[in-house]
Amino acid sequence: MRQRLESRLCKIDQKMLVMSGKGGVGKSTMAVNLALALAKEGKRVGLLDIDLHGPSLPTMLGLNKDQIFSNEEGITPLEFEGIKVMSIGFMIQDDSQAMIMRGPMKHGAIQQFLADVNWGELDYLVVDCPPGTGDEPLSAAQLLGKGAGAVVVTTPQDVALVDVEKSISFCNELNLNLLGVIENMSGFICPHCGELSDIFKSGGGETLSAKRSVPFLGKIPLDPRMVHSGDSGKPFIQEHPDSEAAQALQSVVRKLI
Ligand code: ADP
Repeated sequence: MRQRLESRLCKIDQKMLVMSGKGGVGKSTMAVNLALALAKEGKRVGLLDIDLHGPSLPTMLGLNKDQIFSNEEGITPLEFEGIKVMSIGFMIQDDSQAMIMRGPMKHGAIQQFLADVNWGELDYLVVDCPPGTGDEPLSAAQLLGKGAGAVVVTTPQDVALVDVEKSISFCNELNLNLLGVIENMSGFICPHCGELSDIFKSGGGETLSAKRSVPFLGKIPLDPRMVHSGDSGKPFIQEHPDSEAAQALQSVVRKLI
């Protein structure tokens, strides 16, 4: 298994976990849109969902689970706009069925996703993690090994920042290359009057980055159309490329590259 894993991983240039200490801050939304923004910059991209208990990518990308098949080369990932995508959600027929798994099973599943999926040659593998610093990001960090990086997503308010700081310390403990912090849901521009409201405050992610000497990648504003995009399987950055949030996402990716 180790050999199979290594032979897959050596064809992937950059491995990037998208993490957060808190749920609901927009990790999956960022992972999907960053993957698309990377592809827009001409990169070959894979997107792996390791949120085993609550996979979001099938819904967010509107991908059909019936298309999964495998051959002697391994499991063929699904494709979205040229991005290779894998999620446990593609393998469960009944979406309402709970995945009841402990640490070792989760480790096995993540190992399989990395070693048995035919990722081919990639510039970036974006890994969407569940919230927190538990089994899934731990297994991913260990399996991806040296050189893997992490992007930490937060919202601006203190109640999120306290938990997100733990993600930073997780990355330091596991020697993950901390690529930077994204402050999501940072400000809301009223579509009617154009006034800016800081619903979840603003600047917290930037302050945290400075405090922990981590690069700050940018602020993504709240845009209600992002919720609709996620629910309808049509990623925001594709649907609204000229919006402020899409421009901010593209600028995050340029900083990452
Ligand atoms: P997580 O993966 O951290 O649990 P999600 O990516 O599932 O979070 O996002 C939670 C919800 O917030 C989703 O409905 C998503 O569409 C929405 N969302 C995320 N970022 C934004 C944003 N910048 N503006 C508006 N809605 C957002």
